[in-house]
Amino acid sequence: MKNIPVVMIIFGGSGDLAHRKLYPALFNLYEQGLIHDNFAVIGTARRPWSHEYLRGQVSDAIHETHDEVDENDVKDFASHFYYQSHDVTNVEHYVTLKELAQDLDDRYCAQGNRLFYMAMAPRFFGTIATHINDQHLTGSGFNRIVVEKPFGRDLASAEELNKQITASFKEDEIFRIDHYLGKEMVQNILPLRFTNPLIKNIWNSDNIKNIQVTLAERLGVEARGGYYETSGALRDMVQNHIFQIITLLAMPEPENISADNIHKAKQELLDSLIIPDAEEIKKHFVRGQYAGSDTTFAYKQEPNVDENSTTETFAAGEVKFTKGPIAGVPIYFRTGKEFKEKKNRIDIVLKHINNPYGRAHSNNITIEIDPKSEIYITINGKRISEPGIRRENLEYTFSKEELSQVPDGYERLLHDVFVNDSTNFTHWSELKRYWEYIDAIEDAWKQENESGNVDIPQYLPYRMGPKEANHIFESATEHWIYE
Ligand code: NAD
Repeated sequence: MKNIPVVMIIFGGSGDLAHRKLYPALFNLYEQGLIHDNFAVIGTARRPWSHEYLRGQVSDAIHETHDEVDENDVKDFASHFYYQSHDVTNVEHYVTLKELAQDLDDRYCAQGNRLFYMAMAPRFFGTIATHINDQHLTGSGFNRIVVEKPFGRDLASAEELNKQITASFKEDEIFRIDHYLGKEMVQNILPLRFTNPLIKNIWNSDNIKNIQVTLAERLGVEARGGYYETSGALRDMVQNHIFQIITLLAMPEPENISADNIHKAKQELLDSLIIPDAEEIKKHFVRGQYAGSDTTFAYKQEPNVDENSTTETFAAGEVKFTKGPIAGVPIYFRTGKEFKEKKNRIDIVLKHINNPYGRAHSNNITIEIDPKSEIYITINGKRISEPGIRRENLEYTFSKEELSQVPDGYERLLHDVFVNDSTNFTHWSELKRYWEYIDAIEDAWKQENESGNVDIPQYLPYRMGPKEANHIFESATEHWIYE
């Protein structure tokens, strides 16, 4: 693998994301030779750590995520890490950071290449971007910036953030990361759709009745009540992960799989996204909050949550497009906390066909993203010893060994940033459409809240969300496949 020279600056180097995801992913890329002799990483955060302390943390992060490692490799890898105590609002710290980056660039022959990673609370992204620009932190080689989610909290704030980032970076240097796009089964959607005649030829509005996307979490908000109050399920899950998945499911066939052509096909679809009006939102969207039980808190009782909070821990709704192979087909989604189990899955429900046997089970395609990675198609056949139709699954699965080789989403996506492949990152024009849609729903719900006539369904913990979500469908013959 080609060795890429670079100085990487991680804003938020003492944080959870850096420790659990970024350091292990970088180590794997180092082991593969993508980054080797000519790289240095500067971790910045508020704590007064030393270089040595950060190296110890990096080493711990690798041991926590790897069963077997070569200690010499860990030591060598960690030796490329440097720490700078940094307050994002302090101008002088950026001056020191720039000097350190330049110094390391010379020492490691990094050819002026800079990679910035915003791994901090999103409220700081704009400030960091502005300082990168004002203090000229970019290098003389390539410059790339990775921006974590959420990118804004509505269209207006996303536009403002984008303005701040584009002051220093061109669109093709900005990598808006969504780790769902690094997941094995999400990356499997396009090959599944376009390389199987059996599937490709039925992937249209003549044959697909609806599509259902469920991203269910078992956990509640835990210690993150304060953050969650500023977000809610719609912003936290739908604006990014659910929309990314839906876009892959509904986009037209790209000319080829280059990043440009994939984004072109996505944009063509998103230009035709229907923004729902107030009446449609009333009919086809539901929000909810988890209620408490003998042993668990209700959302409104969680620490740092307002006792009158209207923040949703569950959201379900409908997405439709006027173009693409499944134009007009309802795509239903639901996501929430305290479901009966953690489950991320997509169900493609095919229409019934007239047949000489009369009744038959619906013929569905299911893609399970987590916790299993599998695809199965429900197939109808005859019963063995009595009249009638029975249903069996055709399964596409991975062996244990194959699964153990699947890289973490962050490793995949960081690799793509190093090799400058933006296929699995969100372009600004796509993100803008997602926000336009989310804003319409947020506005409708806000109006409802302000009318004083709001009654957000409270759902039982560790079940399937509020029963109201069973009534968002366009027709009485539709229902959730996964229940
Ligand atoms: P975190 O709270 O664990 O870490 C935040 C970091 O920012 C820490 O290093 C902290 O020291 C630093 N920091 C805070 N205030 C600062 C200031 N004024 N000046 C300098 N540094 C300051 O957060 P996290 O969980 O690592 O999340 C970081 C980002 O990654 C967020 O945007 C989050 O949405 C995103 N993300 C995290 C995960 C995850 O698994 N943790 C997953 C997906 C996305």
